[in-house]
Amino acid sequence: MSEVLLLLGGNVGNKHKIFSESLELIRKQVGPIVSVSSIYETEPWGFVSDLFWNQAIQVETQMKPEPLLNALLQIENAMGRKRISEEYEARPIDIDIMFYDDLIINTDRLTIPHPLIGLRQFVLTPLNEIIPEKIHPVTGLKISEMLRTCPDTLKVLRING
Ligand code: ADP
Ligand code: MG
Repeated sequence: MSEVLLLLGGNVGNKHKIFSESLELIRKQVGPIVSVSSIYETEPWGFVSDLFWNQAIQVETQMKPEPLLNALLQIENAMGRKRISEEYEARPIDIDIMFYDDLIINTDRLTIPHPLIGLRQFVLTPLNEIIPEKIHPVTGLKISEMLRTCPDTLKVLRING
């Protein structure tokens, strides 16, 4: 059994519905969800419809990294096919692999740990809520330490408990 950290992101459609249905598909197709962060949105700017939601989840899975990626892309597609409003077309959910155990992978299709982890508050803040003590296998730093030294100034707001 492997431990995987995923980050969900989305900014179009009915985000409550899309996030909860995505979690349900992940639970059914990937494995049990053992930890879930709050939902965060990026500091308000631009139009309301452009607000981005992010949520980190910890999942136990028997899937190897490549089949896991395929399953997540399939879930993204399944969510995208749901017509939430008439003019709705864009992909409503992005599901990225942040960590897969302590593996370091650099292939055409997969970079793990995810390259945005150290760079963005919207990645580190939700991760820090559920795995502050995890040591990043490349930097050797805890997530909580990476959050403290993250240069990104764009704040994220917690919108649920
Ligand atoms: P983005 O996530 O950058 O917004 P996409 O979701 O369209 O863009 O992903 C494009 C490709 O990124 C995927 O098809 C996948 O092969 C690749 N990829 C590389 N590393 C990862 C990772 N850690 N998690 C998810 N996708 C990844
Ligand atoms: Mg993606």
